[in-house]
Amino acid sequence: MLKLFNTLTREKEAFRPLKKTVSLYNCGPTVYHDQHIGNFRTSLSVDLLKRTLLYFGYPVKHITNITDVGHLTNDADDSGEDKIEVGARREGLTARQVARKYEKQYKQGIKSLGIIPPFKWTRATEHIAEQIALIKKLEKKGYTYRTEDGIYFDATKFKNYGKLAGLSAMKRRPGIRVNLGEKKHATDFALWKFAAAGTARQMEWESPWGIGFPGWHIECSAMAMKYLGETIDIHCGAIDLIPVHHTNEIAQSEAATGKPFVRHWMHGAFVIEGKEKMAKSVGNIKTLEWIEEQGCSPLDYRYLTLQTHYRKELRVTAEALVAARTARAHLIAMVSSASPGGALIPEKIKKFEETLLDDLNAPRGLAVLWEVVNAPYNSADKRATILAFDAVLGLGLKPTGRVSTKKELAIPDAVKKILGSREQSRQEKNWKRSDELRTALHAAGFDVLDTAEGQKLKPVV
Ligand SMILES: [Zn+2]
Repeated sequence: MLKLFNTLTREKEAFRPLKKTVSLYNCGPTVYHDQHIGNFRTSLSVDLLKRTLLYFGYPVKHITNITDVGHLTNDADDSGEDKIEVGARREGLTARQVARKYEKQYKQGIKSLGIIPPFKWTRATEHIAEQIALIKKLEKKGYTYRTEDGIYFDATKFKNYGKLAGLSAMKRRPGIRVNLGEKKHATDFALWKFAAAGTARQMEWESPWGIGFPGWHIECSAMAMKYLGETIDIHCGAIDLIPVHHTNEIAQSEAATGKPFVRHWMHGAFVIEGKEKMAKSVGNIKTLEWIEEQGCSPLDYRYLTLQTHYRKELRVTAEALVAARTARAHLIAMVSSASPGGALIPEKIKKFEETLLDDLNAPRGLAVLWEVVNAPYNSADKRATILAFDAVLGLGLKPTGRVSTKKELAIPDAVKKILGSREQSRQEKNWKRSDELRTALHAAGFDVLDTAEGQKLKPVV
């Protein structure tokens, strides 16, 4: 039984999906600047979760948004400028160009880190109609009011506002200066902002309330519910999103539907640099380029992040990164030199699985991996076992460019289970599910071929 820490209840809880396929949403990047390794750490934590679910045989439908409009420079009080427009001015590009530039860069980063891409990337600018529809629904139910600069959500009308952050009466957010302006309460937030008179915005749309653009929070609710339904299994993000963005996502979604929005909230801790969290606004960021400047691969950074539990802060030094590179190189050399065709070592597989089931304890999982390396098993069995672990760790340990033979395939039980479900869905002519399971198999390290004699597995090269 997989246990996950749920921010909502502050407890490790047994995870059971609502339906057969797990619905998973995570807040993606605001594409106005370089993403730093702290942002990528969050993406890596989501990938660890997703690979774990796939490993244990759950199909996963995963959506990640691309925020290409509406995220303001001061999101705590709905003021400031749209970050995308700021980026456009900085680089002499159009808003659309700057958004696409950094979206592309982010996706390259994701690929270099071995992260499985989501089922769908959803751009905020391509879901304006859905956001307007959601705001209309809230308006009809009496949750909104109008000010000079936009349509706002009245947080005091939503019972349990702030439950995610554990602040039952969130009249004020301590430590954050909130400029009320025309807002009625500090916790109210913009659903739709009007294009201010005299300012030239590049991105604006017609709406029932006037020309303008959506607030940042509404995009996630609208897109998550469009693709995953009104109640989703797991919603992820970094911990800084808890008090405002995720709190507001819950309020507006649940006010609109009357149903719980998210069953499990999973939040990843920060990367710390100096004495503070790594953030563009602090000016202490390191990027994937910095990783490469240290002579390391993004996958070495992935190894380094796995050494710390996703809910603990992480400090990234050049020394720690080089140590991760050495460790990973050792594993690759070991796997390459051993002969294929070994058997899985059952007691280590079991131990490894137990560490994952306990709130994705990757540091302990790595420790089990090194137990395998250092114990006197035969090298082929070590190889097979380490590669089975790597379906979850995603460290790219499998030697590439080799022609695989049938004998080489050590197929984990979890993969066999997925293969069995896919056979069944094919007999039922459920092609959609069959395709989802193909994705699940790919994530677990195997491509499936449909031949006249049935399904054939081929390791992902
Ligand atoms: Zn979001």
